[in-house]
Amino acid sequence: MTLELLPIVENIDSQVLESSDGPQGHNRSVYIETYGCQMNVADSELVGSILNEAGFVISSRAENADIILLNTCAVREHAEERVIGRVAQLNALRAQRPNLTIGILGCMAQHLSETLTERAPFVDIAMGPDSYRRLPNLLAQSSDDALLDVRLNKSENYIGLTPIRREGTNAWVTIIRGCDKFCTFCIVPYVRGRERSIDPIDIVSQIESVVSEGYKEVTLLGQTVNSYKHMNVGFAQLLREIAKVNGLERLRFTSPYPVDFSDDVIMAMSELNCVCPSIHLPVQSGSEAQLRSMRRGYTVDDFRRLVDKLRNTIPDIAISTDIITGFCGETEKDFRETCKLMEEIQFDFAFMFKYSAREGTFAFKKMTDDVTEEIKGQRLQHIIKLQEQISLEKNMKFLGNTYPVLIEGKSKRKGKDGKERCFGKTPHNKTTVIPESVPANTIVNITVDRCTSHTLYGRLN
Ligand code: SAH
Repeated sequence: MTLELLPIVENIDSQVLESSDGPQGHNRSVYIETYGCQMNVADSELVGSILNEAGFVISSRAENADIILLNTCAVREHAEERVIGRVAQLNALRAQRPNLTIGILGCMAQHLSETLTERAPFVDIAMGPDSYRRLPNLLAQSSDDALLDVRLNKSENYIGLTPIRREGTNAWVTIIRGCDKFCTFCIVPYVRGRERSIDPIDIVSQIESVVSEGYKEVTLLGQTVNSYKHMNVGFAQLLREIAKVNGLERLRFTSPYPVDFSDDVIMAMSELNCVCPSIHLPVQSGSEAQLRSMRRGYTVDDFRRLVDKLRNTIPDIAISTDIITGFCGETEKDFRETCKLMEEIQFDFAFMFKYSAREGTFAFKKMTDDVTEEIKGQRLQHIIKLQEQISLEKNMKFLGNTYPVLIEGKSKRKGKDGKERCFGKTPHNKTTVIPESVPANTIVNITVDRCTSHTLYGRLN
């Protein structure tokens, strides 16, 4: 299969989007499967809205759908391999349905672009994260060759669309797209394009509308969410504006970039009741030399000071992080410094990764991926174990206390007595399981009586 690059046609879908049974859809059903970060979850909701407006029907099962779209992640090689495996598996469905269309959306489509169909030969269409308005048109075309649309567009903010959100208690709201940081290991700026902030008026009106639909919690999204700047409105002021929305109980945001964490934002967090006392603050490494070669723009001490300020201003704040081990040139000493920082800061939890070289990044082009797979694996296992202990100790501090928990639904696993349980989140973003049956989207007071490193267990007060 070869690839056909689409001719550039701007604004082609504007009229079509206004129609609820546009010509492209003809009620064809679409199943969307999402990989990667929360921004992808939010983007899938946008894609759902674009397709629905154009007359496609969103299906909840791959097996029934005429079109299957995988919204993908390119941050690590493993994420791409999973999608390639999934495409091969889905391809088997063509035996019963020869007209099935399989598409790859998002960061991996952008990252692999021309080489995608060599790696995933069963793909019919591929589309990057700034092209979704053109998706109905792409799906309406027929071609023996795979179709590709991966133009990045700095002015694409997807304004005017109402995402089709999954039912739940939390609504994701994208406030800034793209990334300008260019950390040497990271593919995000290349696949999501330049940073652009969405008009605060649009953000507030989206939030008013999700709150009126019944969502109690909103999470603001961006690759560097606190770098938000629209005209003279910065992130702190945005938080203050959003907090005025009547009925909004919980406001979260992810992920902030340490360098852009201003005192003003910390003040806003502490003043505004709806802003939850929890923050995901990626540190990546505890080694000065590694932070420099990652071009993170802060020192270990800067990070430490930021954590101190957060904890001094919001005393019970939960802090989680991302850590990469085995980045280019990471010595045993660098690694020990990361462990030391983890012990010192005591993060509530951490996402931990082995470095994965990504074609297109500065590290891929100019640095050597010189830590062996074996060492990367050993170091990863070491920090996972270390963090488990720390998370357990952190969770034990919650024992005996009572917290308002926003119930999300039934827990996947039943209790030891075989009975169903419910789960939800504390303001600190700790998953909490209770034996009582409580309707989703209610906030109840729970006293914590047991915990593991991942979960709190308690009872209704
Ligand atoms: N904007 C976020 C990053 C988003 S990607 C930031 O603050 O940097 C989510 C996480 O994936 C990153 O925080 C990092 O820990 C991890 N990651 C990114 N690129 C990676 C790579 N090449 N190999 C391994 N992990 C990576």
